[in-house]
This record gives sequence, structure tokens and C-alpha cells, in this order.
Amino acid sequence: MRTFRDISIKHKLTLAIMLTSSIALLLAIGSFLAYEPITFKRAMVNNLSSLAQIVGDNSTAALIFSDKNSAEETLAALRVESGIVEACIYTPDGRLFAHYARPGAGRTFPPPHARKRNTYTFNDGYLTLYRRITLDGKNIGIVYLRSDMEEMHSRLKRYTGIAAIVLLMSSLVALLLSAKMQRLISRPILHLVDTARSVATQKNYSVRATNHGQDEMGLLIDSFNEMLSQIQERGAALQEAHDELERRVEQRTEQLQLEIAVRKNAEVELIKAKEAAEAASQAKSEFLANMSHEIRTPMNGIIGMTELVLDTKLTPEQMEYLDAVKSSADSLLSVINDILDFSKIEARKLDLDSTDFSVRESLEDTVKTLALRAHAKGLELACHIEPDVPDALVGDPLRLRQIVVNLVGNAIKFTHHGEVVVHVKAESVTKKGARLHIEVRDTGIGIPEAKRRLIFEAFSQADTSTTRKYGGTGLGLAISSQLVRMMNGDIWVESEVDKGSTFHFTVRMGRSSIDASKHSCSMPVDLKNVRVLIVDDNATNRRILEEALASWQMVPVSTDCGQAALAEVTHANDAGEPYDLILLDAQMPEMDGFAVAEGIKHDPKTAKATIMMLTSSGQYGDVARCKSLGVAAHMTKPIRQSELFDGIMSVLSKSNTAKNRAATENEETQDTSLEENNKPCKQLRILLAEDNAVNQKLAVSILEKKGHIVTVANNGREALDELETENFDLVLMDVQMPQMDGIEATTAIREKEKATGAHIPIVAMTAHAMKGDKERCLESGMDAYVAKPIQSSELFNVLEDIGKYRVMPKTSEALSGTPTLNMAELLARVDGDMSLLKEIIGLFASDAQYLMTEIQNAIASGDGAALERSAHTLKGSVGNFAAKPALDAAFRLEQIGHSGNLGGALDAYVTLEEKIEQLKKTLDGLDMEEAA
Ligand code: ADP
Repeated sequence: MRTFRDISIKHKLTLAIMLTSSIALLLAIGSFLAYEPITFKRAMVNNLSSLAQIVGDNSTAALIFSDKNSAEETLAALRVESGIVEACIYTPDGRLFAHYARPGAGRTFPPPHARKRNTYTFNDGYLTLYRRITLDGKNIGIVYLRSDMEEMHSRLKRYTGIAAIVLLMSSLVALLLSAKMQRLISRPILHLVDTARSVATQKNYSVRATNHGQDEMGLLIDSFNEMLSQIQERGAALQEAHDELERRVEQRTEQLQLEIAVRKNAEVELIKAKEAAEAASQAKSEFLANMSHEIRTPMNGIIGMTELVLDTKLTPEQMEYLDAVKSSADSLLSVINDILDFSKIEARKLDLDSTDFSVRESLEDTVKTLALRAHAKGLELACHIEPDVPDALVGDPLRLRQIVVNLVGNAIKFTHHGEVVVHVKAESVTKKGARLHIEVRDTGIGIPEAKRRLIFEAFSQADTSTTRKYGGTGLGLAISSQLVRMMNGDIWVESEVDKGSTFHFTVRMGRSSIDASKHSCSMPVDLKNVRVLIVDDNATNRRILEEALASWQMVPVSTDCGQAALAEVTHANDAGEPYDLILLDAQMPEMDGFAVAEGIKHDPKTAKATIMMLTSSGQYGDVARCKSLGVAAHMTKPIRQSELFDGIMSVLSKSNTAKNRAATENEETQDTSLEENNKPCKQLRILLAEDNAVNQKLAVSILEKKGHIVTVANNGREALDELETENFDLVLMDVQMPQMDGIEATTAIREKEKATGAHIPIVAMTAHAMKGDKERCLESGMDAYVAKPIQSSELFNVLEDIGKYRVMPKTSEALSGTPTLNMAELLARVDGDMSLLKEIIGLFASDAQYLMTEIQNAIASGDGAALERSAHTLKGSVGNFAAKPALDAAFRLEQIGHSGNLGGALDAYVTLEEKIEQLKKTLDGLDMEEAA
């Protein structure tokens, strides 16, 4: 339904006018009709009063004379008054005197009681009126009149009809007028509406509304027109701006197209440059690989040959110069290795190995190799691996070792007194893996806060001036942090200047099901409840020892100085609870370990105590002192847990005091660390395929010194020929060789073996240390891999392992591993030159004599280095004759000399003497003539 608001303004105006005029008229008629009865009633009362007066006046005589008829005649005259329906005359005392009722009146009224006062009332649609009749001021009667209201009603009806007609007529007039009048207002509005609509629909802002006057509408139209003008102007301006913009866009588009063309060209150039860079990077990687080969090969020669020369008879001066050459070459090689590692990491060509290893053995060994450096500076070096660290892990032990060597190496380098401690704990251990947290703490110079982040970046050092003071490339930590990242860990440092630094790193390793530890758990002695006194001034060392002993269920008690230790030993003895074992630190302030041992041994009551001395490496003479003091064993710090365990086992089983604490006779001094290295070595026939003459010589010397028999092939082809005619236990195969390279040769060997089912172990030997090299070698059928420059220990480890790869051809007999002196072999070694052989044998006889005396002197003076040197030289001479027992004995002495612990040296000397004598006899017995 349309509401009032929605109807047109025209109708609204008409309606408004109509409504206003009708309401005004209605109000006028209404008030007239309301007022009319009032005036009418008032006129009625006056008329009826006058009529009653006349009736009274006319009835005076009748009343005086009581002429009722005359009175009734007077009343009957009221017939002419159509409204009078009843009339009465009463005597003054109220009696009815005459009565009149209009004839034909539908209703008859009983005459009312007379009222003595002049009154009137409108009641029930009638006007009743009483009036006294007086004569000369005396009341002679009362007139009563009743009139109906018919006249008034009919008049009102008439008036209402007239009013309705007037209303109708005036409404019609108003309608006509309003229809005319509203146009005055509505027309300009409608015009405005039409104009606005046409502007809106046609977007034509040039139209204008026509103004017809100056009233508000006129003003509105003017404003509307003004607004239109403004919009029109603005539209024009906008259009202009738009046109301008379009022009500009067009221009810019053109420019852009030009620029795009230029960029596309540049992109093409960039892609070309990128490809060139990639090619360069590829070339760089290859260059790197080749450089690594090219640099390592001569380095290999320099280091190896220097070692060989060092083994010969030299003047002290020559020895000193060559030592300098050797150490310079070693540090050059380590710098080259650093740079190479770094480049490999940068080129993402470094792969982590994933092998089973014992974390304790690996880390303790690593720390042990750094002990000499630490002890030379008078620093304590300790390795504390918490008991809950799982031992058998899977990871890259060599790279882990590299990180630890770098951090501990730095710690030693930057610490002048105090200690360096490696602390290993397990952050989390699951069935599959473990997250280790390794700390390397030192009490050194510290690192200023501002430099702590910087040092992990390549070529950054905390203080450039330290470069001169401490040396170094600034690459170690960069490499370590990359390695740590590759092992899914973090590295960070905490440090305080002049107090020390703690480097932390975490690594994630897999867990191995194979127990890689060599730690033997056979318990010849029950260690449970064995009482041990630990005497060490260094709190870290005490803690490590306590923890280890407690883990074997022993009962450790610690003291931090010699005096306290002596008091404790005496006290325990007096209390009838003597210690089963005393672990004594050799280097302590005030009273050192030797003094404590002396104190204990000099007191007859405590003389039988079992003492183990823990010394720092490189302290010559310690062994002799231990021996003279009756110390049961002697170990070099930092002590591996397995070493400590084996040492304690050995000492306690010897002294047999573990349970009954019965003292034994004189204990033998021994260095337990020696035993491990003194494994007999099996002689092997080795085919060496290597084109480089220096490397040939070097490898041959190294291998022959170990008693192996080496045949050299200059390339892969020669190697194949050799294998056709000779039996070998293994092949050492260089990868890069002329004519036929190692990979090709290996493939050919493996192909041939298919027929016999045999398998000769082939060990790749290459300076290629890039990612993928190892895989390539193994894929071609090689069994193991050693990187050049060859580390003799690494090579020997591989050789020791190699037996497992050997499969004999079905027809061939197994080669005997027993060393024999074979005339033909000896001759072969000197190219069949019998006189040379004789000469060598003669030289050996005199050399051996001289060297044996040197060895004797070295042992007597406790000079480990001299012992190592002379035993090494003797070993070299013996090696020429492939005489295994003599070789082993010389090697053992060399190792004793190297370790610096000359305990056991005398025994080894006796054995060597015996073996050399045997060899001499055998050589003497060789039938040269027959051979010739
Ligand atoms: P390099 O030792 O060859 O210079 P690194 O990357 O191993 O290179 O070490 C970077 C620098 O960090 C060192 O030169 C030295 O300034 C600082 N730094 C490393 N370790 C320590 C430490 N334990 N104490 C003090 N400063 C250290």
C-alpha cells in the first residue's frame, strides 16, 4: 500500500488544502451546532415565562372569583401554542384549579404538585415552568406550563442538513481551488525533479532548471543550477586530467616496453653469466679436487721423506733442521686441510660418514692426543663423559674428532695456566638416537663480548693482534660450526675476559646396536667395595675419577693434597681399614705425587699399599722414579676410562688385594697404555699400484717397516699383469694413474675374479678427498679407502681390518702368515744383487750393535725421544729382512719411547736383544753361495 509519504507532491498539496479547509469548516459548523441549543433553550424559557405571565394575568379574575371554567378557557387558549403539551393553574395553597392537556398528545401527564417559587427545569425532553400569579403583590395562584422540545429538535435537524450541504459544497470548491493552487508550488518542484532525472539518466550536466520566481523554490533551483555548473566544470577538469593521464600512461607504457626489452636483454646476459659462473664453480670444484691432489701429493712426499730422513743417522743440527721442516710441513698440511674442508663445505661437497663408533673411546683418544701440548704448557687436561651418555653411537667420529680437536686445540692455545676440561653429557636419549652436549672449558684469556659472534665466521679472529701472538687462520671455528650444523646441532660460546671460555656444542647421533667399545667387562677381580684413595689437587680430575670408580661400585675417597693423603692413609691403616688402592696425581703443588708415594712407602705400616701414579705426558724420568718407589702402575693423563679400568684390574689382580687386602711382594711397574698398541702384526704381500715415484718410495718404506712385502706397479695395467703372475694379500690402488687408472683396473680385477670366486682386497689410496670420490671407489669394487697424505696409523688400521675382505680362489692355497726368512724374497728386494745383500747384512750387524747400545743408554737416562729414535732406526734395518719377531720387539720399544713412559722398557729391551741375536744367527746361517 502506498503510504502518504510516497504519493506525489501534487496530491499531497491538494490533500493538505482539502483537509485544512474541511477541518476549519467542520469546526465552525460544530461550534454553531453546539451553541444553537443553548440559545434556543434560553429563548424557550423566556417565551414560556412570558406565556405563563400572560396566562396568570388572564386568570387573575377567575382565581379571585374561583371561576374554574374561565380559568380552563384561558388555558384552552394555549392550543395555538403547538409546543405546550400541558398546563395547570393552582390555588396559592397548591390545589389544582384548572388543567389543560394538548389534545392528541400521545402521552398524558398527571398534574404535578404545585411549586410555590418561580422555577423551570429541562427534563426528559420537556421544559417545565412554574410561575406565581400575583395581584397587588399578593400571591393568588400558581401557573404551571410544560412544553416539548420538538421545535428545537427539528430546527437542529434542519441546521445539520444545511451544514452538510455547505460542507459538501465548500469541499468541492476547496478541491477545485486547491487543484489550481497547488500547481503554484508543485510545478517548479516537478520541473526540478524532471531536470534532475534527466541529468541523472543522461549524464548531461549542461541542462538547467527554469526559475519562475524568487521564493525558496527559486533559490533551490538557482542552487541546483549552480551545483550543476560546478559539476560540469569539475567534469570538464576531470576529463582533462583523465586525458592527460591517458597520455602519460601511453607514454610510460612505451617507456616500459623499452625498459622491458632492455631488461630481457640483461636477463639473457645474466643467464649467460650465471651459466658461466656455474661452469666456473664446477671448474673450481674440479680445480679444488685437483689442487687437493696436487698439493697433498708433494706434501705427502715432503712429510714422509722428512720422517724417513729423521730415521737415519743425523747430526743434532740436521735433526733440528729437519724437525723444523717436519713441523712446518705438518702445520702447512693442517692449514691446507682447513682450507680444503672449508671449500668443500662452501661447495656443499662435504659428506658426513655414518659408522658405528664408541663415543668414549673416540673422544678420550682425541683428548689424549692433545695431552702432550697441554702438559707442555703445564695445563691440566681432562675429559669427563657422564655415565648416562650412551657409548655405542652412529655418526662421523672423524668429523666429531675434528671439532673437538679444534676446540681443545684453541683452548690449549689460549690458556696459560689452569685447566682445559671436555665435558660430555646426554641432553636426550631415545632408542634411536642421542643428543650430546659437549663443553670445552678453559681458564684462558677469554673472548670479549663483541667478538663472540664474529669468531664463528670464516677468517675471523677475536683480536687481529693475536694472529701474530697465537697464529691460526681463523677457519677452525667456521669449519666446526658448519660441521656441528651438519650434525643437527648448535655451537655457542660463553666467556669472560681473563677468566676463560666455555665452548658448547650439541650434536645428534644415531644409536648403534653394535657395541663398538673395546672396553672389556671381564672382571678377573671383583671391584665391588674396593676402597680407593684419590689424591689430586684438581677438582675436575677428582670428580671424574670418583664418578668412574663409583660406576664400577668401588668406594672412592678424595683428598686434594699430599699431606692430607698421608694423614688419611695412616689413619685408615690404624683403623684397620687400609685403602686397597691409591690413585696419586704426580703434579701437585707443595708436595707432589712422588713425595706422597715416598712417604707411604717409607712408613713400614703403609709400605705395602698399592699405588697408581697419574702423570702428565712428556715428563721424562717419571717411569724410573715410579719404579724406584715401588709404584704399581703409571698412567698418562688424561686417562681413558677403559685404560683406568684395565689398569686397576691389572694392578689389583697382580697385588691380589682386592678382596683379602693381603700385601704382596714387590710390584712391577708397568705402563698399561702400552699393552694396547703392542699387537702382533701379520705380514702381508702387498701390490702397490702408484705412478708417483716419491709416493711409491714412501708407501714402500712405511709398509716394509711393518714387515710387509711390497711389489710396485706403475699403473693399473702393470698391476693387472702383476696379479696374473703373483699372489698378493691385497692391492693398494692409486686412483689417478696414466694408461689405466685405479677405477678401471679395479673393475677389470673384479671382472676376472668372477671366474674363480676369489676376492682380493683393494684399498683405494688417493688425494682426492671430494664428496663422491669414496663412493666412486667403492662402487668400482674397492673395499676400503685411505686418503693421502697417508697417515701410517690409518693405513695400518685398514690393513688390520682387511683380512675380512679376503676370499681365496678355490684352487689356491692360503698364504702362510708366519714370517719366514726367505732367501728368494731377500734377493728380490735388492733386485737380485747378492753382493748388495751381503753388504746390507754386514751393515746390519754393525748398525744393530751400535743401535742396541743407543737404546740401552736412552733407557738408562730415561730419554723417551732418544729411545724412540734409535728403536725406530733399528726397526727400519730389521724391516729389510722381514724378520717379524725382531721387528715387533723394536716396534714395541719405539712405542715405549714415543709414549715417554719408559716403564716396561727394560723387559722389551731384553726381548729385542734376544730377537736380534736370533736374526743375526739366521742371517749368518743363510747359504749365500747356494743362493748365488
Ligand atoms: P684460529 O684459532 O685458527 O685463529 P679459530 O676459528 O679456531 O681460528 O678461532 C678464531 C678465533 O677465536 C681465534 O683466533 C681466537 O681469537 C678466538 N678463540 C677461539 N677459541 C678461543 C679460546 N678458547 N679462548 C680465547 N679465544 C679463542
